[in-house]
Order: sequence, then C-alpha cells, then structure tokens
Amino acid sequence: MPKFEYAPAPESRSIVSLRESYGLFINGEFGPGVDGRAFKTISPATEEVLAEVTEAGPADVDRAVTAARKAYEHTWSAMPGRERAKYLFRIARIIQERARELAVLESLDNGKPIRESRDVDIPLVAAHFFYHAGWADKLEYAGYGPAPRPLGVAGQVIPWNFPLLMLAWKIAPALACGNTVVLKPAETTPLTALAFAEICQQADLPPGVVNIVTGAGETGRALVEHPGIDKVAFTGSTEVGKQIARACAPTRKKVTLELGGKAANVVFEDAPVDQAVEGIVNGIFFNQGHVCCAGSRLLVQESVYSDVLASLRRRLATLRLGDPLDKNTDVGAINSAAQLAKIRELSEVGEAEGAERWSPPCELPVKGFWFPPTIFTGVSQAHRIAREEIFGPVLSVLTFRTPAEAVEKANNTPYGLSAGVWTEKGSLILWMASRLRAGVVWANTFNKFDPASPFGGYKESGYGREGGRHGLEAYLDV
Ligand code: NDP
Repeated sequence: MPKFEYAPAPESRSIVSLRESYGLFINGEFGPGVDGRAFKTISPATEEVLAEVTEAGPADVDRAVTAARKAYEHTWSAMPGRERAKYLFRIARIIQERARELAVLESLDNGKPIRESRDVDIPLVAAHFFYHAGWADKLEYAGYGPAPRPLGVAGQVIPWNFPLLMLAWKIAPALACGNTVVLKPAETTPLTALAFAEICQQADLPPGVVNIVTGAGETGRALVEHPGIDKVAFTGSTEVGKQIARACAPTRKKVTLELGGKAANVVFEDAPVDQAVEGIVNGIFFNQGHVCCAGSRLLVQESVYSDVLASLRRRLATLRLGDPLDKNTDVGAINSAAQLAKIRELSEVGEAEGAERWSPPCELPVKGFWFPPTIFTGVSQAHRIAREEIFGPVLSVLTFRTPAEAVEKANNTPYGLSAGVWTEKGSLILWMASRLRAGVVWANTFNKFDPASPFGGYKESGYGREGGRHGLEAYLDV
C-alpha cells in the first residue's frame, strides 16, 4: 500500500527560549557549580548543541542535600497536607499552562515525536501532580496507619527516555507525602528538569523542597551514596540498579528500583488482527522502543503467524520516521550515539545468531541518530535478542501453540515488568494474567499509563511500586 504524501507540519520552536547555559537549582535558586565544570546537551535529531549545563560535583550534591534537609525540617514536613496540596495543584496547573513549551523542549532534547510528548508525556506529567495533590491531605486514609510520617530527604535519579514524566513519577509522590528531594536528570536530557525548576519558582515552592543537580553517572553516584539522604529512588538500567542496591544495602536508606524489561506481547489466534497489530506497533515503536515496559518480544500463536506478520509488515511500511518536531512523525531520533551503537550491536548479533532481519523501506536522515523500525523473525529463546533489553525499535518474534507454552515462554526472562495479552476470551485473559510474572499485564491494549495505577517489576526489573495508593508506601515511614 503506498504511503500518503504529507506536507511537512513542524511545530514551531519559538515557544521555547533556551538559555545559553544553565546552573544548578539548589535552595530555590539557579547558581554555578563549585568546580565550574559543564557539559553540552544536544538535539539527537540534528546534533545541534542546545545549551551548556552545569556538572554537579560531590560538593554541589552536598549543598543540595543540605538545602533539602533544612527545607524538610523547617518547612515541608511540618506543613499540613492541605497546604502542601495547594503547591502541587499549582505546579500541575502551571505544567498545563506551559504544556506546549514543555512538549517542544522535550522533543528537542530527547528526540521523541512531538505527537507523543504533546499527547502522552506532558498530559501524564500534569496528571501525576494533580493525582498526588489529591493524596497530600488524605494520607491517613491510604492504609499506612492513622498518621503516616514522611521519610526525609529523597535522592532521585532518572533516565532519558521519559525525562519529565519520570521526574513527575518521582517528585509528585515524594512531595505529597512530605519529603523533600534532590533529583538528578539524565546527562542527555536535562532541559525539561531545569524548566521544572523554573516552574517550582513560579509556584513559589519554598526553597530547598525541590533541588535539581545536573550531571552524569558520577553525580548520580554521589547523590545515592550521600549519607544525608533517607530514600533512594532510581529508574534506569539493571546494571546501575544493582550497583545502587549494593551501595545502599549497608545503610538505613529505603530504596526503590525500576529497572529493565523484556516484555512479552502475546497474540492468540482469536485476537482481532488489526487491533493487535496496532498494539504491537504501540508496544515496541512508541518512543523509538526506549521504554522499559516495551513489548519487545512478540509471541504469536502459530495458526495466525503468517496473517499477523503480513499485517505487521504492511503497517510498518506506513510509519513515518524523521523530524521529531513534525506533527506527522511516528518514529523520532534515537536518544544518543551510545544508545544507537548498542541497538546496532545487538541487531548485528541477532543476524549473526541466525534470526532474519526485516525493516520497511525507510530513508534515514543524514545528521543525528536514527534506526529504522526492525523486526526479527525466526528468533529462538536462546538468542540474545530474545533475552537482552535492546531499548530500541527492534521487535523479536517468536511463536507458540498452546496457552501453557505462551506462559512458559513469556516468563522465561530475568525481567518481569510488563506483558500484553490479545484475545477475545475474558477467561483466557484472567488465566494468563494470574500466571504471567509481570508487574503490569495489559489486555487488548499496551503501554497505557495512569497515575492511579501502580507500576513496577518482579525479579531483575526491580522492586517497589510507583503510582497509585501503593506508590505512596515508597515515600512513607512504614
Ligand atoms: P543508566 O542506568 O546508566 O542511567 C540511568 C540514570 O542513572 C541516569 O541519570 C544516569 O546518569 C544515572 N547513573 C549512571 N550511573 C550511575 C551510578 N553509578 N550511580 C547513580 N546513578 C547513575 O542507563 P543508560 O542511560 O546508560 O542506558 C543503558 C541501558 O539501560 C539502556 O540501553 C537500556 O537498556 C537501559 N535503560 C533502562 C531504562 C528503564 O527505564 N528501565 C531507562 C534507561 C536505560 P547519566 O545518564 O547522566 O549517565
């Protein structure tokens, strides 16, 4: 089927006013780092330098933790929940007011399509603050005792795949429960966290309640290992998650880890094929596959394998890859050169191990970091592309004959973050859901998020839950 020709429809960048350089946000103010180090953040779609950002060293992290401690003891933990709620509501409303600017900034710095940052990321960011504002004065009804206490200062480290959304998942519940925070965004995507710091100023949030320290892995390490924090919340790779768990084990710090995944998206023979194909595409090509809960292993019942694969190939040929700011774009840029190298390497391993690689005809831009939507068929469970998180737009397809075999294969992974089931039979959905070892099981849909719904993993996907009533536990002394 030929692709429609679309005229370019780029979203204007003029709504974003980038500063040449950004300081650290400590105690309510932007300021320089102690040792004067900085790094550049670029647009992964064009490699254009967007801004210079301060690299926080251990002395800066220490200043931020001290500010957060002071704000915790003198202001925030003593404030009634109904007053904290007002600040969270105010932040949520400012996010809505500045939604278009935040969406453009996120797409510029991260490379994700504007359609996603505008329609998914930013609305969910606002929703997380609204939702947790609602909890701030009702914590005694959350099921954690009559007067649940906050933990203190939270050190939070987030990844680059959903920069502002991961910030919201971390900061909204922490603040609602009465904690103060020091957050480190990822090195490649610091700009929306810095815009959020401005929003805190705009909302008149008391100084020190939120502190943002930019930097790379070493800044993250200095933060999680700082003796002055009471709680560590991390989202990122399983490898770094394990290091953090080891570093925090001999301390009194409470830790939650949200790590990698290798989710199975299971399509039964009675599933409506077109709907399932949309779900498969959304499962693995949303956000270029940079999604911890991505449906990166497609398990198709053998009897419908050819139909599903033919439809999937047809659908992939209609995906538009290119300028993240173009409103027609479905697949944007890969976030960094390092991530692109990892996707390329694992895809080459897939071919070398004997799987068959296919991508639709697709012209990649010359500048920037790009990878075409890719499907591997003939994948066996032993292949590395069926076992390791690729974190890119690459789908491994396997088959099964019976529901029992589907469960066996779906659970054959060190991870356990999410899974999808496609069938018309409600009983089969329930049968599968009770057997899949995954924190979230989607039925006849995929990658659906809601602040009221807890999210988190089993096994090497980490521990602790974010969102919903369950997510509050991570920030309360229970
Ligand atoms: P990391 O786990 O390295 O990054 C996550 C965050 O942790 C970033 O802010 C990073 O800083 C920071 N960090 C790095 N090292 C340390 C440390 N020793 N102590 C504390 N914080 C640290 O992920 P990568 O960006 O390197 O991605 C590698 C792979 O991880 C991906 O290919 C993907 O497979 C997986 N991943 C999974 C994610 C998920 O949501 N499950 C999210 C991101 C990645 P900085 O970025 O500045 O180096």
